[in-house]
Amino acid sequence: MAENLLTVKDMKVYYPVSGGLLHKPEYVKAVDGVSFEVRKGEVFGIVGESGCGKSTLGRGICKLEEPTSGEIILDGEDISKYNARQMRPVRKKVQMVFQDPYASLNPRMSVFDIIAEPLIIHGLTSSKEALEAKVLDLLRKVGLDDYHANRYPHEFSGGQRQRIGIARALAVQPKLIIADEPVSALDVSIQAQVLNLMNKLKKEFNLTYIFVAHDLSVVEHISDRVGVMYLGNFVEVGNKDSLYQNPLHPYTQALLSAVPVPDPTVKRERIILEGNIPSALNPPKGCKFHTRCPKCMDCCKETAPERYQVAEDHYVYCHLYDDKIKGKN
Ligand code: SF4
Repeated sequence: MAENLLTVKDMKVYYPVSGGLLHKPEYVKAVDGVSFEVRKGEVFGIVGESGCGKSTLGRGICKLEEPTSGEIILDGEDISKYNARQMRPVRKKVQMVFQDPYASLNPRMSVFDIIAEPLIIHGLTSSKEALEAKVLDLLRKVGLDDYHANRYPHEFSGGQRQRIGIARALAVQPKLIIADEPVSALDVSIQAQVLNLMNKLKKEFNLTYIFVAHDLSVVEHISDRVGVMYLGNFVEVGNKDSLYQNPLHPYTQALLSAVPVPDPTVKRERIILEGNIPSALNPPKGCKFHTRCPKCMDCCKETAPERYQVAEDHYVYCHLYDDKIKGKN
């Protein structure tokens, strides 16, 4: 098994909100004590409904959101307590690709300047000629042409803009790229092109990805391992094949039951979940999924489940897999 590039331990990202009952401080618990590892060279997919905390988790790892607590070990370096100045050299190791490439590209900068900027900031170029050669090389690597360098973001399609965002992220030769819904704003045909490009670049640049998305099919296509999030926590984490072929958490089962199966002979019963995701301001006690779970037991309303190993490289957070409870039900 490959060694870990990233280890996250008990990470919390809480946002204080004012105006609580009797002015007691209240917090939106966007990420509520998440632990996981990402191995060198893999694609770790994070999936869940909107509002489950998956994007906040991605932003927390590279400290675009400051985590409230927890440990982040990146490439052997504990960056948990790093301030903005200390994070500067770390940004060479971890880069983000965002959902909306138009919003994340400065409309007043040419594509050349957008890609050159991180190279200049991190002192990764020795001369003007070397800078130009590097920028043009990156453009070609993401499937764009040299003449695109002098154009501006508004002159490109969504898919091309995402390629520019990827080229900018690659410029500093990161080890880890956190891609936050990188294809969800694109047409399906363009999605496939960008996913294939990301796969190709992963091999070429020896990259590791965290791939955040709400679309289970997209995550299945690109990931080696997948973590399913619900209301600020993982509910199931496993290698892709095990998790997709044998989903064990009732929430994962419900999510996957809604994914169309290409084979018409395979019938899959749709599991409809009642109600909406509860508020992260006041999450339910015990298992946070108990208010919607079709298999809820009494203990679920009181005690949060631990992590249970159900197969090699497959873990689930649900009382149904606790041997002591299994025996009683
Ligand atoms: Fe459902 Fe209980 Fe498992 Fe939570 S712990 S998913 S409520 S069975």
